[in-house]
Amino acid sequence: MSDTDTSEIEALLLVQRLDNTLDQLRFKHANLPQREALATIASDLDSLSKARSKTEAQRDDLRKQQRSLETEASDVETKANSLDARLYDGSVTSPKEAAALGEEIESLRARQSDFEDQSIELLLEIEPLDDLLVNAEAKGGELEAAKQAKEVELEAAASAIDEEIATADADRAAAAAIVSEANMELYAKLRITYGPDAVIEFDPAHNGGCPVAMPAVELDRWKHLPTGSLEPCQDCGRMVGKLI
Ligand SMILES: [Zn+2]
Repeated sequence: MSDTDTSEIEALLLVQRLDNTLDQLRFKHANLPQREALATIASDLDSLSKARSKTEAQRDDLRKQQRSLETEASDVETKANSLDARLYDGSVTSPKEAAALGEEIESLRARQSDFEDQSIELLLEIEPLDDLLVNAEAKGGELEAAKQAKEVELEAAASAIDEEIATADADRAAAAAIVSEANMELYAKLRITYGPDAVIEFDPAHNGGCPVAMPAVELDRWKHLPTGSLEPCQDCGRMVGKLI
């Protein structure tokens, strides 16, 4: 490389700019707002499903109790009806027996009525639970639709970034091919320590261009180096390239 050849410095600065861009793109890709929205929807769906299972179990339990009360009411009714029939079919002749039968029928009717009342009470408890389940199903449908829409949105946003990443990757490879292997290795090492400004462009008007400001001696040394110089800042260790 001749003293005035600045193409390697320019290429290295471009590599760094593209690395910075790539870092930003990857961060953007990983933190797309749609991902957070989807996580919220997933958590809402999960809560909904848990609440639904709980309500369903509660409703099914009440339904079971209610059905068994219905069966008991119907059994008692059948028995009362058959005693009723016996009372009037002429087979009971003794007034004492008729009175006893009448009392038993009355007691059975009372029990039937009790069972029916309890059953109605349960039906009244079941009704709002059924309503809750209908609402939960509607809400679940809404959330599923929102999830699908958000997934489509995420895919579009992610693939747009993927394209940008592919372009920047290709540009980076082209720029890196211009930089010597040794300088690429040094740059990679310095990037770990210095992050986005491992390599800087010498700028005499702004403390040498170094983020930590070159001391006067180092600044003076750089002013006297030929254009095309690419070497570490003796103060901070960053790579400095002289383009002017
Ligand atoms: Zn420095």
